[in-house]
Amino acid sequence: MSEVSGRRLTTTVVGSFPARPLGRDFERSYNIDVGRITSMKGSPNDLDTSIDPDPFKISLERSVQAQLDAGIDIISDGQTRNDMVTLFASKLNGIRMKTRPVVIGDISFNSPITKDDLLYARGLIGDNVKIKGIITGAYTMARSCVDEHYGNVENLAFDIAEAFSKEVEAISDIVDVIQVDEPFFSIDRPEYGKDLVEIILKNTNVYKALHVCGDIQPLFEDLIEIKVDILDHEFAAHTGLDNFVAGFDFPQKLGFGCVRSDVNEAEPVNKIKERILKGLDLFSEDKLLLDPDCGLRNLDQKVACQKLKNMVEARDQVEKELE
Ligand SMILES: [Zn+2]
Repeated sequence: MSEVSGRRLTTTVVGSFPARPLGRDFERSYNIDVGRITSMKGSPNDLDTSIDPDPFKISLERSVQAQLDAGIDIISDGQTRNDMVTLFASKLNGIRMKTRPVVIGDISFNSPITKDDLLYARGLIGDNVKIKGIITGAYTMARSCVDEHYGNVENLAFDIAEAFSKEVEAISDIVDVIQVDEPFFSIDRPEYGKDLVEIILKNTNVYKALHVCGDIQPLFEDLIEIKVDILDHEFAAHTGLDNFVAGFDFPQKLGFGCVRSDVNEAEPVNKIKERILKGLDLFSEDKLLLDPDCGLRNLDQKVACQKLKNMVEARDQVEKELE
């Protein structure tokens, strides 16, 4: 990915980051402030647009800033607005939100879901840093909903995939990479998984990535048949996965997870360096993108920041050694 980042070894993230508005109290006081300022100005229509009533813009800014501070080459918007399922389910036609999303009618695209956040994030980062759009995969979505309409997870998943292909169209001009997240592929791989991913990504010319976490050894030979540019997996948590994957010949680049996302403690630079060097023993440097194993949403914010910083430091040290 040096053509994207200008680096020999490009760093990126899988997506989510632990930045949140400070709970409901924060949201409430923020809205009250907006109201107070409005009433001070004397006209309810004269809203001060310099104060945005969307508290998630702040969590997005924090997330983007943390990635910039760490020196990540391809950032995300942090996916701070909601979890990976609710974020998308709540915006599709045919779904009613309860504790879990309930499918009550034919699924279709309503309006862009992540576009505004990506535009906002893009505006914060300047030209040197790249940005990734993230779409939760259709199979993971279908398996996470309560289906009261289709009676068939496959039909539901294909309609979600078609709807998300329109989301991809909506964000393609804004992003440099679009990644589909399919954690459910490693739980029970559907035969039609390849088709779902390719439908979602059919209308874009930007780099296409597929992230599947968990143990992907049983399905790797299927994953390499999928028409994407990058396959992204958890190489830090699954030791030996790198050796396994190196036994295959495949065209995709590897999102090489080199930082644990399931351990709430930042591993030292040397440890990450060791993982990267092992990766470089097995694969050529232009085959690898470096990232944490998965989203960092469940970690403490400080730990997440440190992990990203250590990863970039490890990359810098490895690059020096390559010179
Ligand atoms: Zn994951």
